[in-house]
Amino acid sequence: MPPSDRIPRSVLVLARARLELAHTFRIARSADDFRETIIVRVESGGLEGLGEAAPSPRYGQSAASAESALASLPALLFDDPERFDEALDAAAEILGAEKAALAAFDMVLHDLRGKRLGAPLHRILGLDASRAPVTSFTIGIDEPAVVEAKVREAEGFPVLKIKMGLENDREILDAVRRATARPIRVDANEGWTREEAVEKLHWLEGENVELVEQPLPAGDLEGMRTLAGCTSIPLFADESVRSADDIPALAGVFRGINVKLMKCGGVREALRLIRAAREHGMKIMLGCMIESSVGITAAAQISPLVDYADLDGNLLIRNDPAAGVTHEAGKLVLPPGPGLGVALREGAVLDALRAHARGPRPE
Ligand code: MG
Repeated sequence: MPPSDRIPRSVLVLARARLELAHTFRIARSADDFRETIIVRVESGGLEGLGEAAPSPRYGQSAASAESALASLPALLFDDPERFDEALDAAAEILGAEKAALAAFDMVLHDLRGKRLGAPLHRILGLDASRAPVTSFTIGIDEPAVVEAKVREAEGFPVLKIKMGLENDREILDAVRRATARPIRVDANEGWTREEAVEKLHWLEGENVELVEQPLPAGDLEGMRTLAGCTSIPLFADESVRSADDIPALAGVFRGINVKLMKCGGVREALRLIRAAREHGMKIMLGCMIESSVGITAAAQISPLVDYADLDGNLLIRNDPAAGVTHEAGKLVLPPGPGLGVALREGAVLDALRAHARGPRPE
């Protein structure tokens, strides 16, 4: 019997959401007051599967490209729970470089699987929720007085991630240290030259810096190797790492990697990446884009596996369309519900999904 005769047909709907940032989010290469994200909802066998694609211009994606990539997926890929890996392989093939769209598809499948089994994703993966790490809270680049105020506002978080990579790095560090002695992680987002990086890492020594992320452009591994020999601060790859295939070249250059579901294509790929990095003795940070609680909660489900979390994209926005993972004094608290354990809040995104569900099904 063909699958369509024995398996209930799935219905896929998408809604584009405008996530309003609480503060202008400035990093070395960009500044944004809002980011667009795509929320995906699939009804399959009486269950709801949720996912999110937060596209990144850094990786050649936009809300429009993620949306059309997702709409191009045949809905029958969601229909058969027995064909989990096969469906993910097929989607990866169709979506190509649209990794955020692949992440959304992967989240939906994991959510539906958990709901069919009646268990949260972390339990299906054999992970202990009590081992979820503390998340850092990110402070974007700004005028020193604003940075100081933002650091004071983030009092509830024991670790901060400080964005750098422009001319005022030293003033930013001074502003942070006027407000707190807490440990910090620095993210230069590829913003330094080799010479600048040597100088800046030198003055970051002794400033209670846990790690520095992506000091040099992604492709400059030779520069990175030299830099690693000049500092005792662990250097982590973010833009330099996108898939498990990148790991062998990065081992011995970076001490750790930043894994993001939107960058690698979801939970299954993130687990592969983590395994590959561990085999090379590397540390793991789980990071994010500016995302709603759908994407952040999916990442939080695998957070007991990692050394560091930077899962604060949902905390940097004013209008989170969903609710899931929470935190206590910065420590991630995984929701007890099945699957991703995330639900959409009443509001514009849920209204749009309901309206689309009544309309024609995307082809
Ligand atoms: Mg980064």
